[in-house]
Amino acid sequence: MPVERTQEEVLFLGIDIGSTYGKAVAMSDRGAIVAKAIRPTGLGGERLAWALRDDVVDQLGGDPSFAYTVATGYGRVNVGFADKVLTEISCHARGVHQVVPEARVLVDIGGQDSKVIVLGPRGDLEEFVMNDKCAAGTGRFLEVMAKALEVEVSGLGALSLLSETHVEISSTCTVFAESEIISLLAKGIRREDIIAGLHRAIANRVFGLLKGRMLKIGSGALVVTGGVAQNEGILRALEEKVGRKIVLPGDPQFTGAIGSAVIARDEKNRARAVA
Ligand code: ADP
Repeated sequence: MPVERTQEEVLFLGIDIGSTYGKAVAMSDRGAIVAKAIRPTGLGGERLAWALRDDVVDQLGGDPSFAYTVATGYGRVNVGFADKVLTEISCHARGVHQVVPEARVLVDIGGQDSKVIVLGPRGDLEEFVMNDKCAAGTGRFLEVMAKALEVEVSGLGALSLLSETHVEISSTCTVFAESEIISLLAKGIRREDIIAGLHRAIANRVFGLLKGRMLKIGSGALVVTGGVAQNEGILRALEEKVGRKIVLPGDPQFTGAIGSAVIARDEKNRARAVA
């Protein structure tokens, strides 16, 4: 839950309108998260942005006076009340540096894309690469598979940890992988083993973006964010594939919104310094 704040504190708002979820974070001048909200993108457009803002304002006891607002994400252009609109790459890079200052590589697995961001020792953006052409390796892939397996997406991680037998999912395309798991189920293969196989398939995809970049960062931290980072099975599969420990931030799905709020605070402070 968000932290206590004093009434006089200046507040900043960060909004990340993703492909699957909209996220909002209110941050105090001291950098503390004082309220946060998440909603599925169902409402869409400007209505979603206002609904997220209202959720945060309600948590703050009805105080809507944000000193600066930054919007990011796929639907960022719909946040008409934002003072500034920035790409996900800038906001994720800033957000991860804020929550894990030693982060050197960020893997963000969201609803419809996955990306790898390489950071310099001071958090500056060095390189990024994105997969947004294909659903395999994204949260959408897991949503389709969860539906076919008749389980909740939020339950996939725990189930996969109960896997006992190695099952290989050979299809990399979402449509073919869905048919493949339906036929595996028909053959009596356990759901737990199929899910673990799906997680390895995603880890392989993500590793395709990561490999070659790991060498650059030496002993710096590898951080995973995005909604899919809440899936423990994905984290274990990726750790196995990469061969090193992953650092998981406290609110992995909010990294872009946190980065937006931090940038909002920086922008306002810069304007104050100039004035
Ligand atoms: P975007 O920013 O593109 O909207 P998110 O980073 O919010 O995406 O991630 C959305 C994805 O996170 C969903 O497609 C789903 O696969 C996954 N997800 C959402 N909630 C959970 C959960 N509780 N446990 C595991 N995975 C989740």
